[in-house]
Amino acid sequence: MEDFSLPGKIDYHITESFLLPHIAGTAYPHQVGNILLVGISGGFMEAFLGFGTVSSIRSGILAARAIATNSPFDGLVKKLDQEMRRSVRIREALNTMRNADYDRLVSLGTLPIIKQINYNTNIPILNVAGSVLELVRKSVDLTEKSILPPSPKIS
Ligand SMILES: Cc1cc2nc3c(=O)[nH]c(=O)nc-3n(C[C@H](O)[C@H](O)[C@H](O)COP(=O)(O)OP(=O)(O)OC[C@H]3O[C@@H](n4cnc5c(N)ncnc54)[C@H](O)[C@@H]3O)c2cc1C
Repeated sequence: MEDFSLPGKIDYHITESFLLPHIAGTAYPHQVGNILLVGISGGFMEAFLGFGTVSSIRSGILAARAIATNSPFDGLVKKLDQEMRRSVRIREALNTMRNADYDRLVSLGTLPIIKQINYNTNIPILNVAGSVLELVRKSVDLTEKSILPPSPKIS
């Protein structure tokens, strides 16, 4: 059986395409008085692909926990916040890429070792990539490309 996804073998027609403005951001602090900022209002949308359903629900659960246990919300969302920052780093990297780079990225994703890690382990590959980019970000000035303000100091 032929691999249907081989380049050049799909006969498809684009019937419609449109562009949507996409505005993403973050919020600090996530709590102002007794107002807890969850979901998009708190910046809990992954900048990488604009996915925010799961992270929004997670922030809502953490908000409920903060209320139920009378704990500081900013402390509870710290890990989720870091995930969002890593996602921004990936987006920043994507913003600098051209079509040829995307082709290379897709080829990289089809390498057996990468597929093995992606499908057969629990290693959060995007989080790892984001962490690496976060480290790179500390040594390389990407200010012009950055869509994130400097890291806030959370006590
Ligand atoms: C086109 C598009 C496609 C997307 N695709 C995906 C996807 O495939 N996967 C994914 O994970 N995420 C996706 N997202 C992102 C996802 O929809 C959001 O991250 C998620 O819905 C955020 O949830 P939220 O509760 O923070 O905000 P929302 O879902 O926007 O909910 C906010 C609600 O508050 C209401 N509201 C606003 N102001 C007021 C007011 N003053 N008084 C009362 N109510 C008010 C709004 O009407 C709305 O119902 C997509 C977003 C868009 C726009």
